[in-house]
Amino acid sequence: MNRPANVYLDYAATTPVDKRVLHAMLPYFSEDYGNPSSAHWRGQQAEAAVDQARKIVAECLGAKREEVIFTSCGSESDNLALRGSAFARRKKCGANHILISPVEHHAVLHTAEQLAKEFEFELELLPVDKYGMVHPEELAKRLRPDTAVVSVMYANNEIGTINPIAEIAQVCRQKGVIFHSDAVQAAAHLPIDFGKEGIDLLAIGAHKFYGPKGVGALLIQKDTDLLPTLTGGKQENGLRAGTHNVPLIVGLAEALALTKQDEDERAKDAVCKRDFLISEVLKRIPDTRLTGHPEKRLPNHASFVFHHADGNLLLILLDAAGFEVSSGSACKVGNPKPSDVLLAAGIPADWALGSLRVTLGRDTPMGDLDAFLDVLPGAVEKARKK
Ligand SMILES: *Cc1c(COP(=O)(O)O)cnc(C)c1O
Repeated sequence: MNRPANVYLDYAATTPVDKRVLHAMLPYFSEDYGNPSSAHWRGQQAEAAVDQARKIVAECLGAKREEVIFTSCGSESDNLALRGSAFARRKKCGANHILISPVEHHAVLHTAEQLAKEFEFELELLPVDKYGMVHPEELAKRLRPDTAVVSVMYANNEIGTINPIAEIAQVCRQKGVIFHSDAVQAAAHLPIDFGKEGIDLLAIGAHKFYGPKGVGALLIQKDTDLLPTLTGGKQENGLRAGTHNVPLIVGLAEALALTKQDEDERAKDAVCKRDFLISEVLKRIPDTRLTGHPEKRLPNHASFVFHHADGNLLLILLDAAGFEVSSGSACKVGNPKPSDVLLAAGIPADWALGSLRVTLGRDTPMGDLDAFLDVLPGAVEKARKK
């Protein structure tokens, strides 16, 4: 099909693999193919590559090497964090209460819901403000002696809001409660200091920062109680069995190192473009609201709701014009229910159904934004119920 334009503005859903990352990964598929668990030379070569990747990830995120374990994706990291800590704390001290924000990614939310429904944990959702932000005082009021784990995401994938994670972590540490943060979006854009911020568990996934799909990591502060959910061999301190996916692990580390190299500069550039986009959308389209925090948001992230618009129709119209965007979360296409995240931030359903997320990439030129802004007002008009 001949698309009028070919503009990808959905970098929060996924990113292309950086050519340098691909280059770093390639030898580990068919030349250096050893199993890191093997005692011989070829195995040792592979183990050295995994060790080096672990060192890089630790340095990039302010962690110690032994605090990094590799997983198959951000979702797996979230699952292990939540499930692993909930079961370990129940076993150790009878803790049965799970406290999470209502705007968590489904990898956290649905895991917590399963723990409640099938395993009789008590799940409580924290309040958030109109920007979808969690306030440490609200968390402090709800922590209990039997709280097993708290999970609050670093930055939201749907509305971009950044949470005060260091303060939240401190509240949890004072009470001796395990704190997990989903940083799958944040790691692509924000400096993270795992040790200094006092976080116990932190999840990342490579494909959100120009690394390959199908690989993630979980950072685990050394005293954290965690029951492994994938059992088998002794890999990853016995916390995550399975032969290491060496090429993907190498790719994750390379992608993260490249991301951290010019993070500040890129963030400044992205913020300029993002704020231009936001102000133009609000100016050009009536009955439009920004969702998420106006300043404390991911630098590449703009999200809106258009009153009485059909968000799914809007995506289809924009796609037909050659612009790939999202309604907020890649998992929600074809679902006419308003997003739980938007509802939790107090946005009424007649607004929330008309949501749009535009996320910029490293190399998004201003020209693409101009072209998008030319098309968007007409598309919103068409997507509005008559
Ligand atoms: C993408 C994403 C995930 C899931 O990561 P995968 O690697 O795709 O499994 C989890 N949390 C957030 C905030 C995300 O954006």
